[in-house]
Amino acid sequence: MTETIVTSRRNFLQAATLCATSPMAASVASARVPSHELVFELPVVSLPIAGSSLRFPVRRIYCAGRNYPMTANGQEYPPPVGHPDYFTKHRDAIVQNASSVHYPTLTRNFQYEIEMVVALKSGGTDIAAGQALDCVFGYCAGLDMTRRDLFNDARRDHQAWEIGKSFDQAAPCAAIHRVADVGHLSSGAISMTVNGKTTQNADLSQMIWNVAAIISSLSQEVGLAAGDLIFTGTPGGYTSVVAGDKLVGHIDHLTDIAIEVA
Ligand code: MN
Repeated sequence: MTETIVTSRRNFLQAATLCATSPMAASVASARVPSHELVFELPVVSLPIAGSSLRFPVRRIYCAGRNYPMTANGQEYPPPVGHPDYFTKHRDAIVQNASSVHYPTLTRNFQYEIEMVVALKSGGTDIAAGQALDCVFGYCAGLDMTRRDLFNDARRDHQAWEIGKSFDQAAPCAAIHRVADVGHLSSGAISMTVNGKTTQNADLSQMIWNVAAIISSLSQEVGLAAGDLIFTGTPGGYTSVVAGDKLVGHIDHLTDIAIEVA
């Protein structure tokens, strides 16, 4: 292995010399010398696993929208047809539990949404609902942080939601609990407090599409894989927060997610 690396470095240096001399030589040399070394390293984003010293590496973050019956501005709003709305967040938006989230730029209406998050150990495309739970590694509590004003404006104007949902520190998550330890969660309290006052309070059984249905329908849109996280939607009651607010999200059987807005 060491010899291979040394050899490839020597070839790389030879190629660099040839590059400096003629374009023809450069193209021949670059075809001959594949580079396996990265120009810089990127950190692996990961989450702790409850009861384990290992961590869960995060590949992609998907989110389901409108997956609980709720009212907005006093009106019932109908669920989407067929499956929840799906959107994504960047994996480096993950925030570790018991830390702080800075009030983000561009918004005057920063909100949280407590959600159960599914962590996948495998995936695929067109996964049948009957097989979907076999892909689940575990579950954790997460917060779908939202720049609500930008999100609402985007929806009103039929623009992409991304600016309202996908930004730095938009995905705080607590430790993942393995299926082997907690089973599959289809009922149990899901609630939220801000500075000790309850704002969201519902039950996982109120999800319009359950975890298996979400995995199945999402896998028709994209290939799912080990390391993917799926936020499963939030019940109503989310509110705006300001710097100094202490947020605690609770889901029965899982570690609470506790975040302070800085
Ligand atoms: Mn959400």
